[in-house]
Amino acid sequence: MPTTDETEALMRARNYLPKFDTVEEERLHRKQRLAAAYRLFGKFGFDEGVAGHITARDPERLDHFWVNPFGVNFSHIRVSDLILVNDKGDVVEGDYGVNTAAFVIHSQVHAARPDVIAAAHAHSIYGKSWSALGRLLDPITQDVCAFYDDHALFDDYTGVVLDLEEGKRLAHALGDRKAVILRNHGLLTVGHSVDEAAWWFITMERSCQAQLLASAAGDPVLIDPDMAKLTASQVGSHASGYVSFQPLYEKIVREQPDLLD
Ligand SMILES: [Zn+2]
Repeated sequence: MPTTDETEALMRARNYLPKFDTVEEERLHRKQRLAAAYRLFGKFGFDEGVAGHITARDPERLDHFWVNPFGVNFSHIRVSDLILVNDKGDVVEGDYGVNTAAFVIHSQVHAARPDVIAAAHAHSIYGKSWSALGRLLDPITQDVCAFYDDHALFDDYTGVVLDLEEGKRLAHALGDRKAVILRNHGLLTVGHSVDEAAWWFITMERSCQAQLLASAAGDPVLIDPDMAKLTASQVGSHASGYVSFQPLYEKIVREQPDLLD
């Protein structure tokens, strides 16, 4: 865990993020972004039964995270439905249970990556289809360059992730990158804000769709490595991920204002 000074230094470096006078305000903001991210995942059809979870680290209890209530559809989740889970997997706030896989995967990602505020994972159709190929995405579009040299492959599948050791291996595969493709399973993305983690998931899912479409139609032309690296610096920064999410946040709050309840 980072010290308070390190956390404050990190926060100062992230000057694109909103500032808060109290931890309560920051917590509420994070929960609002989290509920909105769930509604967007629901709208985009990323839900599959009870699979999938987005987590947000609590701004005060840094080893606790906020997550969706087990069994509630992404499209129905409100701020007041979110539950707080501690580092043992106990629900310490909220009236619902937690998905075991959500705890096992996300607790290990949050523990391994103190810089990460949020992590997103779902069994979205193009992400899981691409994951079955067991390979990284190629730099075939401007958008996918956000993941150039910044995503990993978890090249293993051992059933539903219910064992903390498996969560640790998955976090190890992620390393210091923004995303990991879980072979035969789906995508997982992380960010320095809920906004960023959710945006990387949305655009990565669409990048999987784009490569599947392009590859089905022919042989996609690759962006050359120097240009892919340059584009990654333009579209792949933490700030870029945060900014890209804002129009979606405004849209979903206007369409579904009850998410803030
Ligand atoms: Zn899963």
